Parts: sequence; C-alpha cells; structure tokens
Amino acid sequence: MKRAKGLRLAALALGGAVLLSGCVTRTEPSVSTQIFVMDTIMSLELWEGGSQEQLNQAVEQLYQWEDLWSATDEDSEIWAADHSGGEWGTLSGDTVDLLSQALDLCRLTGGALDLTAYSAVKAWGFTTGEYRVPEEEELAALADGIDHTQVELDRDACRVRLPAGMELDLGAVAKGYAGARLAEQLREQGVTSALLNLGGNVQTVGGKPDGSPWSVGVQDPASEQVDNLLAIQVVDQAVVTSGSYQRCFQQDGQTYWHILDPETAAPARTGLASVTVVGPDGTVCDGLATALFVLGEEAGIELWRAHSELGVQVIWVREDGSVIKLGDRDVLVRLDPMVIDGEPKGTVLMLQYVENLQKAEIAVRQKLNQKGLVAKYSFQDIIGHSAPIQRAVEQAKRFARTDSDVLIIGESGTGKELF
Ligand code: AMP
Ligand code: MG
Repeated sequence: MKRAKGLRLAALALGGAVLLSGCVTRTEPSVSTQIFVMDTIMSLELWEGGSQEQLNQAVEQLYQWEDLWSATDEDSEIWAADHSGGEWGTLSGDTVDLLSQALDLCRLTGGALDLTAYSAVKAWGFTTGEYRVPEEEELAALADGIDHTQVELDRDACRVRLPAGMELDLGAVAKGYAGARLAEQLREQGVTSALLNLGGNVQTVGGKPDGSPWSVGVQDPASEQVDNLLAIQVVDQAVVTSGSYQRCFQQDGQTYWHILDPETAAPARTGLASVTVVGPDGTVCDGLATALFVLGEEAGIELWRAHSELGVQVIWVREDGSVIKLGDRDVLVRLDPMVIDGEPKGTVLMLQYVENLQKAEIAVRQKLNQKGLVAKYSFQDIIGHSAPIQRAVEQAKRFARTDSDVLIIGESGTGKELF
C-alpha cells in the first residue's frame, strides 16, 4: 500500500502550485500535517477554528478515498469496475458523486477530459514508471478504445458498467474533488481559515486568519527549482495546475508527458507548459485544467468563453514562458515586441480583447503612466500599421466577453507580470 511510503517523502517540494509566505498575524497554523496519499505529498494546515481531531479525520478521509479510487489497488472500487468484464460494478456514494461530476466534465470539454484514457496511460508506463513509447499502430488502437460515452453510470442503483477491456481512472479529477469535499466538511465544522495543498491542487478555506486572501504561486514550468511565475490572491477557492513537467520522461531527445490527447492516445502537444484553473469548485478546476491542457490555447479560450457560469480564471503558460491570463473581469492586454518591415520598433501594447478600444486605451495609458512609461503610438496607428497587432485585435474580438477593467498581464517571451 502507498501509505507506507509516508512521511519519508514529506521533505520533497510540493507540486504545481506553491504557497507564498505573506504577512499574517499568526505565523503558524494551529494544526498541520504532511502525508503521502493518492500518489502525492499533501499538506494540510488548519489556521483558525480547527482541532487535531478534525485534522485526523481529514487525513483518514483521504486514505479512505485512496482505497476507493486507486486504479492500481486490486481492492479499490475503480479496479473492480475496470476488471468487471462488461458487468455492472457496485460503487459507494462518494465514488458515484465524483464519477458523475467527472463524466459531466468529460461531456462539457467535448472529451478532452476522458476518464477512459487509462489503458493509454498504462501503455506509456505512467502508472509504473517503466516508460515506453508505443508504436503508431498501438496508439491508434488505444485511441479507438478511449470513449467516455461508453461509461454507464446508474446513480440510483450506485453502479457503473464499462465495455469489457475498457478501463477508467480518476487521476485527473480526484484530488480536486477531495479538496472541495474536505473544504466543505471543514467549513461545516467551524473552520474559518485553512490551506490544503493536495500535491499541487491547492484548496483554500476562507482567507488568512487576518482576513486577507491567501497568496498562491503558479510554478514556473521551466524552473528546476520551485520558482513562481506569478501569484494569485484567493479566498475560499481552489487553484489547480496541470503541467507537462509534473510527470514526464525523455527518450531519443523527445520529452513525453502524462497528459494525453484522447484523440491520439499520445501526450497532448499544443505548445503549452501548464494550465492553472482558479475557481470555487475544486473538481471543476481539476478536470478543466487537464482538459484545457489537452485543448491548447485557442480551443481552450473558446471553451472558457462559452462557460462563464463556471466562474473560473485560467492561466495558460506557453512553452516559451509567456503567459495568458483570463478572468471574469479582465481585458487581456500584452506588451509585445513590435516589428515593422522586419525592424524592431520597441515594445508596444497588444490587445487581445478589445470591445471598447477607447476605454481600453485610456486604462492602459493610466497603467503605463503609473509605471513611468509612455505609450509611443496611438492605438489607431498600431492597428493601422502592424499586421500582428491587427490579427491580435481580430482574435480579441472573437474572445471578448465583458467590457470591464484592463489588466496588463505580461511581456511576451518573459512570462513575467508587469502590473
Ligand atoms: P492532472 O494531473 O489532473 O492533469 O491529471 C493527469 C492524470 O490523468 C494523468 O496522470 C493520467 O492518469 C490521467 N489522464 C491523462 N490524460 C487524460 C485525459 N485526457 N483525460 C483524463 N485523464 C487523463
Ligand atoms: Mg486535473
């Protein structure tokens, strides 16, 4: 059982999202622990209103969920469902709940999230660490076998059925769900401030003890250390990252990672290094982070736009380190090098979302002034002279959702936030 690996690994760095220290009244959580469960290191900190007993309950709950959902443990409900030869398999209430939400997300993402990718995940060796690159024919057969619509979930009778030979796993959603459920339980028990880092899936309860938001860092995928690219302020929200760097191997100069495109059964290659989703529902954030990694930038932004009801903020980090960040109230603006007739003409503003150009321009100029910078070109000039900018504006019009504040998110190529 994985449990035995326990605290030995606790000193290792935590996964994709990392907590930043901040100015809080209290400097230590009232109770905290680190455990190895669900194949990752988790850190649970109760800061206000929590007791050792509540912490123990949370830990016990995580071990129970691991026992139910492990795809490799022959005693788990998921293992039983995967090996039932096309017959119905019985599930407990929590598994039905998680599976039902996860299958909804498979549908919502058009199958970019597909729980039945598990046979392919195994074929690449991601479950054992004995990595291999399957031949094209094998991949084609594996891709044919991925189809979440074949999973029958009978919620009333608490049972599931998949075609013989098909296997599913909950690895892409289980930690987000666990965080959401634990947060709900802790709130009900009167905990007003807690920080749960479930191996890169961060779930917050309330804010810091002094009422200010938690600051959660998004890891720089290119960094060997656990360096942060930017920080997000959150209260009562989940912050979940899916990244190619989290589990990968190299062969013949190529890197292969654990997030697979269900269409090809091979690692999803869309030029992204990571996707972070911030929102009120940890299960949604986890499922969506995986799916948006698979979909890539353009299709992902379309999906984000089409589902404002989810209330999520998304941060895409490209392989070149540049960042796209979209939230409910943001207008996306980037600073990019401007090239005219092959000549670099300095750094200019690049709007990817322009509904009200004049309003956006005023806000951008104000931001630049605050930084002691001056915009050298009028926006009309930019649009008139620069093809890349014009394309960006056209693209922006397709992505536009709300006409609100302007946020300058970074300088292309550096991935660093400027404002
Ligand atoms: P996450 O770290 O949440 O992005 O989940 C990645 C894990 O989910 C992988 O390690 C696989 O076990 C599994 N997986 C890989 N690709 C997919 C996919 N397209 N849909 C669902 N699960 C996947
Ligand atoms: Mg996920």
